[in-house]
Amino acid sequence: MGVNQLMNEIAGVGRDSRRGGYSRHVYDYADFEMRDWFIDQALHSGLDVNTDRNGNIWAWWGSPGADAVVTGSHLDSVPGGGAYDGPLGVASGLAALEILRDKGFTPAKPLALLVFAEEEGGRFGVPCLGSRLLTGAIDPDRARALRDAEGITLAEAAVKAGHDPKRFGADPESLAQIGCFVELHVEQGRGLIDLDSPIATGSSIIAHGRYRFSFSGQGNHAGATRLTDRHDPMLPAATVVAAARRAAAAMTDARATVGRLVPTPGGTNVIASTVDLWLDARVAGDGRTAALVEDITAAAHEAAAAEGCTLTVTEESYSDDVVFDETLRKRMDDVLGGVPALPTGAGHDAGILAGHVPSGMLYVRNPTGISHAPEEFAEPADVESGAQSLARVLAELSG
Ligand SMILES: [Zn+2]
Repeated sequence: MGVNQLMNEIAGVGRDSRRGGYSRHVYDYADFEMRDWFIDQALHSGLDVNTDRNGNIWAWWGSPGADAVVTGSHLDSVPGGGAYDGPLGVASGLAALEILRDKGFTPAKPLALLVFAEEEGGRFGVPCLGSRLLTGAIDPDRARALRDAEGITLAEAAVKAGHDPKRFGADPESLAQIGCFVELHVEQGRGLIDLDSPIATGSSIIAHGRYRFSFSGQGNHAGATRLTDRHDPMLPAATVVAAARRAAAAMTDARATVGRLVPTPGGTNVIASTVDLWLDARVAGDGRTAALVEDITAAAHEAAAAEGCTLTVTEESYSDDVVFDETLRKRMDDVLGGVPALPTGAGHDAGILAGHVPSGMLYVRNPTGISHAPEEFAEPADVESGAQSLARVLAELSG
């Protein structure tokens, strides 16, 4: 089945009628359906499927073994995300293996498809959770205790999904099988529009982190409470939103975003007792993300004190700058006859693996330049060219 046909098959899974686009979160119903679909496709293609101790799904062409050439991506989405972020890499992997089989290609090295569990952190907050657990980048106790918006822990959700969370944690045996990893992904910015190219390799990912700001004040009546008597945590929270933009604008190539803010109890005629918000901060260069977050945190503390509120700031995740393996990138570039190399501000599982095995990315043009939103798109011709490119790269690496 061609890659566009594969994408069509899952077009109805996990649609979000309220937000638009798709909401597919780890261990929820849509995620089950996506994982089942992948397993069916892989088995139908004659691949051997197994799920590792962290819920990542592996599909092998031939016997599992060391020095394998591995491709893959993720099937979960952000809340109200696009159709391509993640599933395009998985569908392209399935299609690429079929292209190679149809050509009568026999890999000299083991070839595998890998689907990571929970890349976006859309449910439990920590991005690239499957690859972080696999590589030991997150403490399994911390992971098991992560809670979703309903208070359900990752451990509880995993049990419900038939996984044993006691087995979560670093998996050196699985990791040792990966000789190199290539992730195909829809481009999430305007890079390939500007370069007028359907395909690029990835050169680097800028450092990025997520920080939870929890403000506490005094819940009270919106009409009966004099302004001078208030301890309203929404005021310092608003300061963070504005400070994030100001501080990022003052640095070169920095990004800071507050995309999620939760007042409790959340009533129109109620002064909130607490406000939690999440800051997403990204700046290339050693220590520069920390400097950006420090600047915003200082403004937050000052505003909290002025309103008589308290503040705690917790780092929920952080990933340093990643520079993808240059030898692997050059090999991919040679096979593809010279394509642009793109740096990105978007995180990927390939970025987590890059600290352990040679890793690389292939990007497919997104003509809207919009991602993490329903407008994310890729033209069918570009999608096809992505799968063909991936097939050529896999043949070169495993031949
Ligand atoms: Zn993604």
